[in-house]
Amino acid sequence: MIRNTGAPRGYLSATIDTTDSGTHIHQTRLFEDNIALLLQQKEQILMTPEYFLSPLSFCYASVGVPGFGSISAALRLGHLLFGWEQGILINQCNHCQGQAYIVAFGGNLKSSSCWYRMWCQNCRLWLHLPATKETTRKRTDSIKEVLRKSPEYFEELEQYATYGFSWSGDGLMPATKSRLTTRMLFPAVLGVYELNKIELLRDLYLWAHKRSADRYAAVRHSLGEPDPFRLKHRDALRQVIGTIVREKLDRAAAFKYLETWTAENLAEDERDEFQRVSEDEILALHEGNFARYQVRPSEFEAWRVVWDRK
Ligand SMILES: [Zn+2]
Repeated sequence: MIRNTGAPRGYLSATIDTTDSGTHIHQTRLFEDNIALLLQQKEQILMTPEYFLSPLSFCYASVGVPGFGSISAALRLGHLLFGWEQGILINQCNHCQGQAYIVAFGGNLKSSSCWYRMWCQNCRLWLHLPATKETTRKRTDSIKEVLRKSPEYFEELEQYATYGFSWSGDGLMPATKSRLTTRMLFPAVLGVYELNKIELLRDLYLWAHKRSADRYAAVRHSLGEPDPFRLKHRDALRQVIGTIVREKLDRAAAFKYLETWTAENLAEDERDEFQRVSEDEILALHEGNFARYQVRPSEFEAWRVVWDRK
């Protein structure tokens, strides 16, 4: 349910009209149904660029700031999570007094026609409310800072081969120079955004759901059908497997490391079993479960390349 409480309609409809309305409604429903899941998976989403940059058609900041330029930006899932965490995009719900999540805000700081839109998870209600200039200015400054810290492109100095002047020979000699280039981050994700496709978003929800199911299964496993050996060595397993990934060990090096580690840290009658369990866990590592070993996505990717090399 969208409750419009008299904030200027122009801003909201102007942006929504550029989006296919079917997609928009679909994304809104996905959001309403899964926000708890996303909050639960917050850290992993903030660490994974593809998820961080997930587009949400109804999330944006559009503020006119006289004399200081303006802001008109799509807010990605990561920006929202960050803003919610920092309290920039949090406001009290005026029905239940609980915390509600702001997903869009806008207006003009000169004409005082500012507004924001938020979702109250308790009431399961969208609220569209007028905002003060001061609050909107604060929100604008803060969100500009968030956007600045997570750019979608970056500039870098690129080395390129060319020729330089030389006094000898034909007057030219090979040289390496640098030039400034702009590179888009995650072009595939941006492509998805431009096309307003929602497959990626759906993938994200499925992934988050699976992650939460994994965790539930793991908890249930340890409560309901305990494997005393895994339970006893849970921390050791996490440490050993985390090290193998972070140190980018290939199969031979990992085997050697396991052998040495167990010899130094475990009683003799536990070593074989520990190695077997560790090997099982390593072979079962995938994108959906590496986080439990406190491994970053970039570390997992880098290790994967080494591990799959024959
Ligand atoms: Zn509420």
